[in-house]
Amino acid sequence: MPLMEPYRIKVVEPIPILTRAEREVAMVRAGYNPFNLRADEITIDLLSDSGTGALSAAQQAAGALGDETYAGARSFYRFRETVEKLAGYPHILPVHQGRAAERILFNALLTPGQLCLSNTHFDTTRANVVLAGGVPVDLPCPEAADLDSPAPFKGDIDLDRLTAALTGPDRERVGVVLMTITNNGGGGQPVSMANLRAVSDLCRAHGVPFFLDAARFAENAWLVIQREDGYAHHTPEQVARLAFDLADGAVASLKKDAIAHMGGFLALRDDALAQRCELTLIATEGFRTYGGLSGRDLEMLAQGLTEVVQPDYLRARAAATEHLGNLITAAGVSIVRPAGIHALYLNAGRLLTHLPPSRFPGHALATELYLAGGVRCAELGSLYLGQEDEHGNLVKAAPHELVRLAIPRRVYTQSHLEYVAEVVAEIAQHPERVPGYRVVEAPPLLRHFNCRVEPVR
Ligand SMILES: *Cc1c(COP(=O)(O)O)cnc(C)c1O
Repeated sequence: MPLMEPYRIKVVEPIPILTRAEREVAMVRAGYNPFNLRADEITIDLLSDSGTGALSAAQQAAGALGDETYAGARSFYRFRETVEKLAGYPHILPVHQGRAAERILFNALLTPGQLCLSNTHFDTTRANVVLAGGVPVDLPCPEAADLDSPAPFKGDIDLDRLTAALTGPDRERVGVVLMTITNNGGGGQPVSMANLRAVSDLCRAHGVPFFLDAARFAENAWLVIQREDGYAHHTPEQVARLAFDLADGAVASLKKDAIAHMGGFLALRDDALAQRCELTLIATEGFRTYGGLSGRDLEMLAQGLTEVVQPDYLRARAAATEHLGNLITAAGVSIVRPAGIHALYLNAGRLLTHLPPSRFPGHALATELYLAGGVRCAELGSLYLGQEDEHGNLVKAAPHELVRLAIPRRVYTQSHLEYVAEVVAEIAQHPERVPGYRVVEAPPLLRHFNCRVEPVR
């Protein structure tokens, strides 16, 4: 069947369409930082796929049934049954979003100085490991470093380095192994079931807890079905369950694969650990039957979790991202291969060869996408990941200068994505015209969110 969204549109929201001159005014006001733009200045927003999905009619209807009882709400039991059926864990704690689950888990699990080993930590996950006194260690597989490699599972962890860590001099310090599926920090690449099984076996053999960061559990399952031998006849639910079965628990942001605006869970097998987590949950998020969410949210999350595993939905979403990737590649712009599902990553370093890392080619391309077409997205390059000295000069460039186009769920149609590809193609005709940038003002932490920069002509 040709590519087609498996839903029709029932409620619409107009898209702001500005002139280039209006966008230039907006960018100057924003200090050339797309994070400072206002929604009504943006034509296509590809900044994040988190909490930006479109609700279904069934989710809206479920929301209307939300039970706002303080303790023991019906909506909590529907939510818990849905997560239990999907993931199979006996203890399920609702939280307001993924990072709350991370904070609660790491504080209950890690003692100061302990290591958290991962394929790649997401940025809030890394921060929560550090805040709990732990030390995050990324062990991505070697294929992940080659952006052009079409290897199917570049989200895998490096099993040799994991084995070395679990048997070497630091083995007593390993507090937890956390696998991010799909590997968001690593280009949205999937993790194979073979890799998850090997991690599970290693953790069991060495008595180390094994957790999943399962924000995109359904998208990972879909890519396993497409790419890994032996899963072609599985359903996404079956593959997801096999993955959950391998771990001792999971943290999940439900702002991604529950197609909802807010929510998350912490799921556990261990009774004593669950009890410790529940105390923190009650003290910091809310009672165990709502955890910072309304009954309305819990209902919409439960419904979203049943919709996200539908093969027609996942097939169309994966095909849309791949279609956009093909159009961009045809326009002569390299993407991180192979295309994942929730985002495409443009290789800005390769396109803007006239800009050194100190002129932030990723940021330059992201800014140009807005100026040329009102497309907002974020850089993942030296502005975000580079290191600077006390005068703000870049002393260590990021390994790659990338731009992330995150695709919100069920929000944009194929023609919106084709519009984005046209904007990219227009820039690619004269990449030498794209100016570099210099930092004018930056806070000491998380500077990509708040900095102001200016073009260097
Ligand atoms: C979004 C995300 C988180 C954090 O979840 P929030 O809901 O934003 O707090 C953690 N891990 C991964 C892989 C994510 O994508």
